[in-house]
Amino acid sequence: MRIIDLYKKKPVISLEIFPPKPGTPLDGVFATIDALSVLRPDFISVTYGAAGGSKAYTVQIADTIKNKYGIEALAHLTCINSSREEVGEVLGQLQKAKVENVLALRGDRPEKESPDAPLLSDFTYAADLIAYIKATGGFCIGAACYPEVHTEAENALTDLLNLRRKVKAGVDFLITQLFLDNNLFYAFREKLALMEVKTPVSAGIMPVINKKQIERITSLCGASIPPKFRRILDKYEDNPEALKEAGIAYATEQIIDLLSSGVDGIHLYTMNRPEVAKKIFSQIAGIRKHLKAEA
Ligand SMILES: Cc1cc2nc3c(=O)[nH]c(=O)nc-3n(C[C@H](O)[C@H](O)[C@H](O)COP(=O)(O)OP(=O)(O)OC[C@H]3O[C@@H](n4cnc5c(N)ncnc54)[C@H](O)[C@@H]3O)c2cc1C
Repeated sequence: MRIIDLYKKKPVISLEIFPPKPGTPLDGVFATIDALSVLRPDFISVTYGAAGGSKAYTVQIADTIKNKYGIEALAHLTCINSSREEVGEVLGQLQKAKVENVLALRGDRPEKESPDAPLLSDFTYAADLIAYIKATGGFCIGAACYPEVHTEAENALTDLLNLRRKVKAGVDFLITQLFLDNNLFYAFREKLALMEVKTPVSAGIMPVINKKQIERITSLCGASIPPKFRRILDKYEDNPEALKEAGIAYATEQIIDLLSSGVDGIHLYTMNRPEVAKKIFSQIAGIRKHLKAEA
């Protein structure tokens, strides 16, 4: 099934997992999928090469989600430092596995590379990859967007214009970078509406369960830490159990607010921690039921 069709009955609730590092067995991630499958998300996405995870496993994991568990799968695919042949090969593998949904991304530059260095690839931006996938045909295409502006963008306006260009290249739905302040998301949504971008947008939510995790991630992706969340970090940084509990409650509160405001979808960055996703899902079970009945 094409993910865009799921948005006809919003909100779409999805989960994200990541493959293990190259050479590591897949048992752990398969156990994660098994545990997450009981939550019956609308789809599960699998990252591609993010945080050192093996690119080679993404197709295999997406295949398992779709064909073993009968849950829609979204395979992430990056194009940085990739040739058309490499990208074409992955698309061919996905078609063979009947995985119809791709999240088309540029990918992050290697950490030590200057942001001005030219990109040596058949694709410069995600928009080029999107156009290529569109020309290949047969895929429903998602893309990333940034309520707090992408870290390499010249400014907020050019970032939005680039996003509109990307959408015009053939994007069916968008997923945001994580954010910890819903007002940033609402402001971003208004800007998209002003630019007549009508593509459904899922809000990316990451439950923060330890201080190292959030500091690393926010420094990489540029997400800001609002004072309300900073107080939680400062208060419980030395008590992992309390911080985890507060992080889950904070993410749940964000999700309830977003669902109440009619968001198209929630995309939960699970960090391969099914127990965290389970806690959040149990807190929103009644709300999900209400919204499904309304849809
Ligand atoms: C939901 C989500 C999932 C992700 N999953 C992964 C993953 O699985 N693997 C992974 O490695 N990374 C992943 N990332 C990270 C992503 O690859 C990085 O944020 C990357 O730096 C940008 O990717 P993009 O697809 O948004 O790039 P683009 O849309 O190409 O944008 C990159 C930058 O270029 C600018 N730009 C775009 N077009 C133009 C133009 N024509 N001229 C000038 N500037 C332009 C944009 O404003 C932006 O600053 C994910 C991010 C999100 C939000």
